[in-house]
Amino acid sequence: ATPTALLVGTGRGAQLGILIKGPEVLESTRRVDTIVLDKTGTVTTGRMELHDVYAAEGTDEKQLLRYAGAVEHASEHPVARAVAQGAQAAQAAQAADDAPLPAPEAFVNVPGLGVRGTVEGHTVLAGRARLLAESGIALPDELSAALAEAQARGRTAVVVAWDGVARGALTVADAVKETSAEAVRELRALGLTPVLLTGDNRAVAEAVAAEVGIDEVRAEVLPQDKVAAVRELQAAGRTVAMVGDGVNDAAALATADLGLAMGTGTDAAIEAGDVTLVRGDLRVAADAIRLSRRTLGTIK
Ligand code: ADP
Ligand code: MG
Repeated sequence: ATPTALLVGTGRGAQLGILIKGPEVLESTRRVDTIVLDKTGTVTTGRMELHDVYAAEGTDEKQLLRYAGAVEHASEHPVARAVAQGAQAAQAAQAADDAPLPAPEAFVNVPGLGVRGTVEGHTVLAGRARLLAESGIALPDELSAALAEAQARGRTAVVVAWDGVARGALTVADAVKETSAEAVRELRALGLTPVLLTGDNRAVAEAVAAEVGIDEVRAEVLPQDKVAAVRELQAAGRTVAMVGDGVNDAAALATADLGLAMGTGTDAAIEAGDVTLVRGDLRVAADAIRLSRRTLGTIK
């Protein structure tokens, strides 16, 4: 929350956990007809867990986890945290001593794609298949099949390579928030068309969309292209609200006609938004729009 935040509808807004930057924000709630929802951390909990480990032919599973965990440990991304925690737990379960994962050197975060770093002298890549493709690293058929299978089950795959060779893949998944499907119904009842926007894989995005009742999906959108996705909707004549939580969502939240930030999200998103949903419950996005329209109704 920012120091300039006001409470809309005074007592009611405070009770609901809605912070709004200024009275001018109310006006835009009257016209919005589309609501863009970020997936990870907004529709889903964002608390991901490591599930499957697929080591390629000739790769040791423990080493795969250790290198992936080491390089992901340096990233704050929810996917990276799940990998690092899973690797740490697996190592602690196997080794008598609880040795920390090695710290990577020359660490690089590649937004929307993954990470790169040097671990024990090896250049390790971990992230989307596209991260490897951009480095000219081919995926063996056995790994492509494993990825397709994981994605069909709604899991996000992290492909791991070192020294220019794909070594395996890990899968992580997070759960859809219990309140998300209800929130989507409430938003529709307010006349808004929901659109799911994510950098994640299409199969994963479609699985989440189906679970919460969203028909329109924009998947595999790079962080810098989230703004373009919002502008495209606006250019088609739609008035767009957006709900997001990540650093990656900040510019799109600022571009949207109405930006709603999850209070459980990053400071960058909260600063960029017009409204903060304190509890990180998507149903409160519907409450905010309903309350704001009602407040306007009583002013006029
Ligand atoms: P979202 O739009 O779902 O909040 P991002 O734009 O941050 O997600 O990332 C898009 C996708 O890129 C993720 O779903 C994940 O597959 C991949 N990715 C991003 N960062 C990492 C990372 N550090 N490690 C592995 N995969 C990553
Ligand atoms: Mg997010």
